[in-house]
Amino acid sequence: MMAALESPAETFVADGSAIALHARPSADYARREADARALLRAAHAEFGDALVQSSSLGVEDMVLTDLLVAEGLPVAIATLDTGRLHAQTLALLDAAQRHYGRDIEVWAPDAAAVAEFAAREGDAPMYRSVELRHACCALRKLEPLARMMQGRRAWIVGLRRQQSAQRAGAAARELDAQGRVKFSPLLDWSAGDVWHYVAQHGVPYNALHDHHFPSIGCAPCTRAVALGEDERAGRWWWEHDGAKECGLHAVQPLRRLDQPGETT
Ligand code: SF4
Repeated sequence: MMAALESPAETFVADGSAIALHARPSADYARREADARALLRAAHAEFGDALVQSSSLGVEDMVLTDLLVAEGLPVAIATLDTGRLHAQTLALLDAAQRHYGRDIEVWAPDAAAVAEFAAREGDAPMYRSVELRHACCALRKLEPLARMMQGRRAWIVGLRRQQSAQRAGAAARELDAQGRVKFSPLLDWSAGDVWHYVAQHGVPYNALHDHHFPSIGCAPCTRAVALGEDERAGRWWWEHDGAKECGLHAVQPLRRLDQPGETT
């Protein structure tokens, strides 16, 4: 079994663990890591306390937290507890705070609104229609995210282009639908790069990653993927059309900020 929370010197990498399966750095990995570090430093220099890392506690976000700590950047780290997370994710939340000695802000949905929605639609409305799935995501993710972002002008997220066709066209710096700047320092990293960093630095990670969950969301809406499937195929797997996103990463069209001459 993978000892995901131990130091590099103590780490035992079992056959079949996510590290054993995926840790294969790209030829230009050193440049990618240097670029990610530089973008984090630049984001903090520009936005200071108005910058937050929005972490899903997935492996990309754990790498970003590790990089922020390694760079000595006092950027707030925040996550959403939708009330439907796996026990392994909640265990990682506690373990990550201990490992880094940093508090992670936890933002939860409005309890009364959740209770009313559950009373009206039941425990598993997401399987009945895309509309109900979006309603659940709006209630449990988008509303607490909006509160998390109040007073903040920029955020750091763990998107990678290789994760899905929808994310392939993202930019490392772009405007979200509310006009805030969203930084994606790992955008060009491969899964191999991510897991190489985890192996090199002893980054704590969700035990579900060792069970073929490359992308982890809420428990009812996430399952393991099969060999060769898209990295996000296990998210909302019963939906077969449209972008399988929850709305957190909606961006303004034509407002990519990685083009020369563009500003926030
Ligand atoms: S991912 Fe599933 S359980 Fe989580 S908020 Fe969206 S629909 Fe609800």
